[in-house]
Amino acid sequence: MTDIINHWIGGREVAGDSTHTQPVYDPALGTSTKEVRLGSASDIDAAVATALAAFAEWGGTSWARRQSVIFAFRELLNARKEELAQILTSEHGKVLSDALGEIARGLEVVEFAAGIAQLAKGEYSENVSTGVDVYSLRQPLGVVGIISPFNFPAMVPMWFFPIAIAAGNTVVLKPSEKDPSASVWLAKLMQEAGLPDGVLNVVHGDKESVDALLTHPDVQSISFVGSTPIARYVYETATAAGKRVQALGGAKNHMLVLPDADLDLVADSAVNAGFGSAGERCMAISVVLAVDTTADELVSKITTRMAGLTTGDGRRSSDMGPLITEAHRDKVAGYIDIAVEDGATVVVDGRDVEPDGAPEGFWLGPTLIDNVSTGSRVYIDEIFGPVLSVVRVSGYDEGLGIINASRYGNGTAIFTNDGGAARRFQREVHVGMIGVNVPIPVPVAYHSFGGWKDSLFGDAKAYGPHGVDFFTREKAVTSRWLDPSHGGINLGFPRHT
Ligand code: NAD
Repeated sequence: MTDIINHWIGGREVAGDSTHTQPVYDPALGTSTKEVRLGSASDIDAAVATALAAFAEWGGTSWARRQSVIFAFRELLNARKEELAQILTSEHGKVLSDALGEIARGLEVVEFAAGIAQLAKGEYSENVSTGVDVYSLRQPLGVVGIISPFNFPAMVPMWFFPIAIAAGNTVVLKPSEKDPSASVWLAKLMQEAGLPDGVLNVVHGDKESVDALLTHPDVQSISFVGSTPIARYVYETATAAGKRVQALGGAKNHMLVLPDADLDLVADSAVNAGFGSAGERCMAISVVLAVDTTADELVSKITTRMAGLTTGDGRRSSDMGPLITEAHRDKVAGYIDIAVEDGATVVVDGRDVEPDGAPEGFWLGPTLIDNVSTGSRVYIDEIFGPVLSVVRVSGYDEGLGIINASRYGNGTAIFTNDGGAARRFQREVHVGMIGVNVPIPVPVAYHSFGGWKDSLFGDAKAYGPHGVDFFTREKAVTSRWLDPSHGGINLGFPRHT
């Protein structure tokens, strides 16, 4: 029996108009037991109409009531996170501990959203002119669209919908069609937490449903996370349709290792950040920039650690799970051939892995490639798999130059014990999120997450203060209560007296 994953519109499961479906795989088994519906433009129309109707009431609901729903959701999610982790592992493949980590980082944003009233407060200036006060207030946008990628099926939706909903918006979420169950599970939990039907809707699908959302006249904003070409397309299409857009794209994150760094810490960090979640993280470290004098020792330390890693079914006690699809696994593995053609040194070849899982799973073991040149596609492309490249550099300046020449600017890290060098780096590097002896510098929920260059289109990052700004719009009110002494005709531009 094949399970069908339905849309969630108006607080119930809906089959929708479209008859198209697509298989959803368990990547560790290499088989599919579920089909997800691929929504049509009319399914998006139905979800947007439902969200618009719900906005009439939700947009006017008090901050206290909205926050209490988010708080209740936090309690429910915390109590049932193991259930969600099982869903994530069964459709994405990441190991259970990593799935729980993803949920924990999503919960952080939920907790932040539960206190949104503090950040959404307006400002008040009394007596800006005689008898005149000015104040600002923040209101929700209306119906907002969220489009999420496969690699964080729970966390990325939670970067957005808790803040959007706490701010009074209603939502149409289009999750990745590769691992769609988590979104519906979260939407059902929001209902259990007391969210009125129609405030959070989920429509599955591919380009057809995305396009319908991007151009729908009743959708006020789009929050997108995914690969750079699609992020650019989403940004251009939705802004042309008059929407507020934040579109987070792909990445190629470098770790610059200065010779004075603690090489054991560096090797641990490179392995954790390179191979966690099989490298399918937008903040994964994919390039180690090793200064010539310590590069051999560092490569040797990384190689030793890799020998102890296990790859297998995420429900067992493996360190690393499979890749998301067979096609993606083959594409990632293809970069190992390219590395050889380009004259790099394959130190550890993940194609030799012996996984603890079904033979049909989409396996590729941790791979280390040394002496990668910056002209090679292994360096240039976002591989998005367990392939760590080492590029050798002469020192800080060459390393910094390489990072700044990259089209991406999502995350980066410097490893050093020299505070002056670290300080110079944080000032000079053209990247949005920087780690100093921290390999995956994902900001906590009360800061904001986002890169530079081709890693973010638009000027609003995700969550934190940017998230509150993005999901609200401000009004400034200039008010004067009637005082007969201030009447009279004056056609000049208002001046303060
Ligand atoms: P993707 O771009 O293929 O898909 C993202 C979303 O766009 C999905 O919902 C998908 O259905 C939709 N989509 C795909 N093709 C489309 C098209 N032609 N037209 C309209 N919509 C389309 O990305 P993915 O493979 O799901 O996720 C991995 C990518 O996401 C990587 O590049 C990764 O770096 C990036 N990512 C970035 C961040 C960040 O914060 N910058 C976070 C997570 C993932």
